[in-house]
Amino acid sequence: MSGCIFCRIVAGDAPSTRVYEDDTLCAFLDIRPITRGHTLIIPKQHATNLDDLDPALGAAIFTLGHRLAKAVRRSELAADGANLLLNDGKAAFQTVHHVHLHVVPRRHGDRLAFAKGFLLRRPHESDLTAAAIRAGLDRLDTEERDTRA
Ligand code: AMP
Ligand code: ZN
Repeated sequence: MSGCIFCRIVAGDAPSTRVYEDDTLCAFLDIRPITRGHTLIIPKQHATNLDDLDPALGAAIFTLGHRLAKAVRRSELAADGANLLLNDGKAAFQTVHHVHLHVVPRRHGDRLAFAKGFLLRRPHESDLTAAAIRAGLDRLDTEERDTRA
């Protein structure tokens, strides 16, 4: 959809630091992260809000959110947990009107750092952070393969 910043990211017409991509989904670092590794997962096809989103795609978005929450625990970010959040509609403070799921890595005792990050929203070394998350996804893949073997 022309004029949509997330569609421009999907098309490669706007910059992003990608963490994951497949035929239908794309995940990239939030430009104003609350914590290091704050990632957004979007459907490649534009959907303004949940009213507009194919439920199967919604399930795929959550499945990837689930994987990323596990990956950040296995990554250098050493997360102990994550907040998964989807703001659906202006009333819910959705500011970018292309559906996205936030995955915000959390650590035990990070309450103050989280509050500061929420106010400042400053980026952290993006390339290193994205590489760490991708490595966490690789570790998760290996772990799942070993479990199946
Ligand atoms: P929401 O309030 O759920 O609509 O949040 C939108 C999120 O998109 C915010 O956390 C922004 O920092 C983030 N955002 C906006 N523009 C970009 C961009 N060009 N690249 C990455 N993240 C973005
Ligand atoms: Zn869009």
